[in-house]
Amino acid sequence: MDRIEGAVGDISLSDLKQLAENVPVMLAVFDAASLRCVYANERYAALSDRSAAQTVGEPFESIVGSATFSKIKHHIDRAIVRGESVSYTRTIEMPGGELRHLDVSFAPDASNGVGRLYVLISDVTRHRAAEIALEQSVERLRKFMAASEEGIAFHIDGVITDVNHALTQMLGYSADEFIGKTTLAFVPTEEHQRVSAVIKSGVETAYESRAIHKVRGSIPVEYTVRNMVWAGIFQRMVIVRDLSERKSSEQRIRFLALHDALSGLPNRASLDEHLAELVAADSNRKFATLFIDVDQLKRVNDSLGHAAGDALLSQLSKRLSQQCEAASAPQHEAWLARIGGDEFVITYLMRDYVDLHRFVDSIMQCFDAPIPVEHRDIRVSASVGITVYPKDGTTPSQLLKNADAAMYVAKADGRDTVRFFDESLARRADLVLETSQALAIAVQGDQFRLFFQPLLSADGKELLGAEALLRWQHPVRGLLAPDEFIQIAEEGHLIVTIGQWVLAEALRHVKLWKSLGWHNARVSVNLSSNEFSEAGFVASVSQALADAELDGTHLELEFTERMLMDDKGETRNSLEELKATGIGLSIDDFGTGFSSFSRLRAMPIDTLKIDQSFVADLPESHSALAVVTALLQLGRGLSIDVLAEGVENESQRECLELLGCAMMQGYLFAKPMSGEEFCAWMQAHRLRYPYAGPRVRHHHRRALSGR
Ligand code: C2E
Ligand code: CA
Ligand code: CA
Repeated sequence: MDRIEGAVGDISLSDLKQLAENVPVMLAVFDAASLRCVYANERYAALSDRSAAQTVGEPFESIVGSATFSKIKHHIDRAIVRGESVSYTRTIEMPGGELRHLDVSFAPDASNGVGRLYVLISDVTRHRAAEIALEQSVERLRKFMAASEEGIAFHIDGVITDVNHALTQMLGYSADEFIGKTTLAFVPTEEHQRVSAVIKSGVETAYESRAIHKVRGSIPVEYTVRNMVWAGIFQRMVIVRDLSERKSSEQRIRFLALHDALSGLPNRASLDEHLAELVAADSNRKFATLFIDVDQLKRVNDSLGHAAGDALLSQLSKRLSQQCEAASAPQHEAWLARIGGDEFVITYLMRDYVDLHRFVDSIMQCFDAPIPVEHRDIRVSASVGITVYPKDGTTPSQLLKNADAAMYVAKADGRDTVRFFDESLARRADLVLETSQALAIAVQGDQFRLFFQPLLSADGKELLGAEALLRWQHPVRGLLAPDEFIQIAEEGHLIVTIGQWVLAEALRHVKLWKSLGWHNARVSVNLSSNEFSEAGFVASVSQALADAELDGTHLELEFTERMLMDDKGETRNSLEELKATGIGLSIDDFGTGFSSFSRLRAMPIDTLKIDQSFVADLPESHSALAVVTALLQLGRGLSIDVLAEGVENESQRECLELLGCAMMQGYLFAKPMSGEEFCAWMQAHRLRYPYAGPRVRHHHRRALSGR
């Protein structure tokens, strides 16, 4: 009676037993009336740590233990009394202490009159663990979503199923407004294609795009997309990061990187970008590149300080950019950048050359009116070099380089000048570069020569001095005059070293001349403004005199008007110091600058040298006559000697003598000569050597004017 007998269908009883032993289920059969075990497989028996043989015949209660029995009794009753199938889940503790989750089913059967209770138990411990893990991860994800500052949305095939709080904050919609909508409803149209491509591809990726904020409209975001399979459903998790702030700080950084801090104008880097765009845009569109250099900025910085220089620059920037704005129309646009201390560049989309010239004039006008800086009006001028695309260059760097070269020539040609680039300028620019490199070598090597040109009385019989004129014995180009290298030396700051050499060499010759009988020999040395403004200049001159064991009366220094008019007290102090050592001071090229006479009167000057351009036009030119006459009168009025430079012929000399000019210099008497030639010339001419230094009457002048 505890055996199942007979065959079932095609399988035998032993088949069934075999099966019952091998299914991963615990099986038992109880007698419904007695609740004793009729059959149990080994798995079932093992639950209560027995064998199947030990289990069969035992009462239910003793198999499961009375505590458990009372807990499940109602399930048993339901199955037996009501004849219902009952399922429940139970967690039991195994003898080893391990917890197991069991799905228990009771199935009653009274079909053959013998009441049976079938018990089927499956161990779902592993499933349950997975379920718990899932529940926990859902919980974790929920917490993570809630805590995340980044917006998170889930969508299935592009339809939003869940969003977190951060996303509602970020985009201004409530969760309800999100859920059920398509993701694309929150993406601006222009980004639809990209976003749907990503959704369709199903790849895990991160990319920058945009989202629509309920109020603010389109904002920059980064989407990070991850795939998840959730309860068997493929879902996409999208993390949304708001880039607005990063974008705006990026923009700020980009602005700073592309703009000049002082003027707020585009800088060199953005000029390069802009030019590249212009060149790339359309090769038929002519545009001009104006390279503008502010001539006197260094002077302003040196004499008034950098704050003043900065103020000047920012005012000038304003003027230029206003002018560019005014000149800009769709057809001809002007674009301004500041690319260096005193350098601006304007690109101008031009219609034709007439149009360009008009524009250039309007830019030059920016320099006409004085600029008020720190309660004074400062006048500056500009040297401008211009290239036109594509004629003068087809790349940004060519256009700029050539415009720079043209600017350089404009500057060399006397500042306040506009120069268009042409090929000869390119050669000249190359020459400049080459020269400055060669000069650096010349300074060290022994390539400089000093020539001398006598200064004489009007009758040519008295030797009043000699002007030292520099020559460069260039190894390839031969003997070069200063015009070919002085300016370049000034820019490369080599002039200071060269000047020191000139001074020492000049004084060496003075000693030689003295030994040849010119006892009060005087040499005139030309100065460049860079030398004079160098700190310690006065001391270095004194040192040179001391080294040569000469006193100041043997030396005269030639300044230009510009050098003297530039500043306030400092120049005068330096001049007074030089003067105190007996050195003579003269103003070179007089009449070409803009000396204010009141300023001139205050300077301790001994000699004015009338510029050779006036002398050249004598005696025919009335205006030259007028100027020379006026300068001679000025000299007499201020008790300053006046010398005429560049006297080339007898009629000039005669005219000057008649006008009362007592000192002359020029080819008529002698050209500049090498040191030896000069000595030979001196000895060949029977000259008188009167004292020609600073006149005693200057001291009278001071005494008379009460100073
Ligand atoms: P500068 O001081 O005006 O010198 C006079 C220039 O006129 C010299 O040119 C001289 O050779 C030239 N000259 C003299 N007599 C006549 C004449 O009758 N007719 C004509 N047409 N020219 C005459 P150079 O030697 O070429 O010097 C040019 C300039 O270079 C000088 O002009 C001076 O400003 C500068 N320079 C010369 N030597 C030095 C130097 O050692 N240091 C500095 N810083 N500048 C120098
Ligand atoms: Ca001179
Ligand atoms: Ca001169």
